[in-house]
Amino acid sequence: MPLLLPSLEMLEPSTAVQYVKGIGPKLAEILAAKGINTIDDLLHYLPFRYEDRLNPRGIAELRAGEMATVIAEVRTSGLFRTRRMPIFQMTAGQGRSRLKCIWFNAAYLQGKFQPGQMVALYGKVEDNRGELQLVQPQFEIIGDGEGEAEKKVAESLEMGRIVPIYESAGQGRLTSRWFRRIIHAALENLTPELPEAIPATVRKRLSLLPPREALWRVHWPEAGESFQDLLASRTPAHIRMIFEELFFIELGLELKRREQKAQTGIAFRLNDQVREAIKRILPFHPTGAQKRSLKEIAGDMEKPFPMRRLLQGDVGSGKTLVAFEAAIIAIENGYQVALMAPTEILAQQHFFSARRILEPSGYRIVLLTGSLEDDRKREIRRHIAQGNAQLVIGTHALIEQKVGFAKLGLVIVDEQHRFGVLQRSKLMRKSGESVSNIGGSRPSLERTGEGARPHMAVSGEEGSIASQVEPDVLVMTATPIPRTLALTIYGDLDISVLDEMPPGRMPIVTRRVGDERSDEVWQFVRKQVAAGHQAYVVYPVIEENEENELKAAIKMYGELSKKIFPDLRVAVLHGRMDPDTKEMTMKLFQKGEISILVATTVIEVGVDVPNAAVMVIEHAERFGLAQLHQLRGRIGRSAAKSYCVLMTAGKVSEEGERRLDAMVRIHDGFQIAELDLELRGPGEFFGTRQAGLPSFQVANLIRDRDLLELAKKEAGAVLSGPNSEISQVEIDRALWQMRTRWQKTYGLVEVG
Ligand code: ADP
Ligand code: MG
Repeated sequence: MPLLLPSLEMLEPSTAVQYVKGIGPKLAEILAAKGINTIDDLLHYLPFRYEDRLNPRGIAELRAGEMATVIAEVRTSGLFRTRRMPIFQMTAGQGRSRLKCIWFNAAYLQGKFQPGQMVALYGKVEDNRGELQLVQPQFEIIGDGEGEAEKKVAESLEMGRIVPIYESAGQGRLTSRWFRRIIHAALENLTPELPEAIPATVRKRLSLLPPREALWRVHWPEAGESFQDLLASRTPAHIRMIFEELFFIELGLELKRREQKAQTGIAFRLNDQVREAIKRILPFHPTGAQKRSLKEIAGDMEKPFPMRRLLQGDVGSGKTLVAFEAAIIAIENGYQVALMAPTEILAQQHFFSARRILEPSGYRIVLLTGSLEDDRKREIRRHIAQGNAQLVIGTHALIEQKVGFAKLGLVIVDEQHRFGVLQRSKLMRKSGESVSNIGGSRPSLERTGEGARPHMAVSGEEGSIASQVEPDVLVMTATPIPRTLALTIYGDLDISVLDEMPPGRMPIVTRRVGDERSDEVWQFVRKQVAAGHQAYVVYPVIEENEENELKAAIKMYGELSKKIFPDLRVAVLHGRMDPDTKEMTMKLFQKGEISILVATTVIEVGVDVPNAAVMVIEHAERFGLAQLHQLRGRIGRSAAKSYCVLMTAGKVSEEGERRLDAMVRIHDGFQIAELDLELRGPGEFFGTRQAGLPSFQVANLIRDRDLLELAKKEAGAVLSGPNSEISQVEIDRALWQMRTRWQKTYGLVEVG
């Protein structure tokens, strides 16, 4: 690998890295795996830490317990075999001081160090019986290359300054040192015309560094830079780079939001008649949060552009009621409402509660799910197309199959957190399509069992008006989303939060036990059932196609129903059962005719059976934190005291312990969500299947909340500011920048 500085042509940010001398196709491939394709990508590959080799520590002044950088000369080294493992030891010296460095299990270090070499060492200083030593330090041999030129490079890049440390790539083929040199070379040869994308007003307001200076200083900090700021990624250079990235994504989201708002929507009327209709259905006093959210929703609905709102609330906070109230506004205005749920079970449950709560007011409600007989489906579709059905409840297939609505005014999407950004925008587009499909102005093909035949929905004056408008969309999620994520993933939506539980709820008593104590647990369940409560026993069949896990769950059901609770009514529920049986089982459980429901995670979302007061989660260590919280949210839905037992099998990983501990301690969904985000990182937060979660080059959603808020504010300001504040040229440049960065990947906005 060439360690000399490659001499380079002038580089544009868009130049592909393989054209850099010294990279070539092989290394380019390794870089591509790291997401580095262009010079711009390379320059955004930031050091993950820095070493202060400007003021390295003298060996004599080291103190036990601190992290220190030491530059010293190799004296002796060798491998020592102890009974437990081989230990590699190296002694480095500065004049007469000596410092011992040890690495465990490190036979591979044999022959690495030659006496007389200079090494930079970074690690923790420990006290070993009065003698200080560095344990497992990171090291870099300085200036071991050949020739004078190489020595000079090493002297200038690796000593006497703050040195960037990069994550290596390609299983160590591309070392930190390699990156240091290639990035340094790229910076030296970067084109003098580096465009400034951030509008001048913003740049001035925040005193941001110009781009070239930021790039230099983030990789090669000046001597006076605060080391603390460097490690916290809060130097002016870091701030500029992180802000820039977040600014453009927020700008994209803000534009998308504006684009949605610019469309024609329905201005629902909110008169006394509507208010009376809402009051009529209320089975209880709404909570303050429910009132506030409804007010926000109703406010959107009155406006003449389409609502795009997210209703966030912890499990059990009462989102359904708010959704029904919104539905009434639309129905009372003569429009239809579609309520979509992610599972059939949930769709059915919404159907039952809608019938209970809304039907007394005379609203016509239908349930449309994939499992209905074709005849029945056709009939329901006809009701929908003719406008007879006022509230249509179903799974997402409902919208995706282009059901022809006569006059769709509001789409409610429940438990949105299961769908990614991309899916969501598809849904929204679909819901738009299904509206423009109808209304008589344009015939559409209906893909159903009837065969594809032109389908004309009801026309008429109002119908044709409806054909040009976008329905309102309300999405609901039970996974409280940390604000940082909400600002990115849902940044194109307005957000209402239900941050208050219905009155009289008691915290769910949560306990963790090893499965060797399962007898006690079952006895406890028995007692609770005897007291008139119902129980869930949950198995970790997280993907319904996990054959073995499903088998294990079914086997346990056999055991529970035949051996442990032969005298009680026990039933099983999992995603692979046929829909009728599922429905029947759920109904019986709802009516209290089943005491113990052995279930997979199909019950994770939405299921609402207030009399269920006990939940036993087997193999709790296998579940994610958010999922455990969702599951637990199935109980504690009445004033009765509820219990959640987290059963674990075998040894639990350290991270598993933290999750379980959090579940026992924390009941607030928002706190759990924040912790979950911290434990797993944003990429995993929604599960790996979550498509469309932006991945960042330099920003980190956990570390950079403050800058994200700032970016959002500034993006808003730029777009609303008076013309004098920002020139059209700047807006255009900013838009272009945003488009090239985000458009392709996330389809955030179509800029005209
Ligand atoms: P989620 O937000 O998880 O969807 P639900 O809408 O299913 O919650 O409501 C949870 C339970 O709380 C339901 O049984 C519902 O009837 C009840 N509930 C909702 N709002 C109130 C309220 N204001 N007062 C009392 N109970 C309520
Ligand atoms: Mg719900």
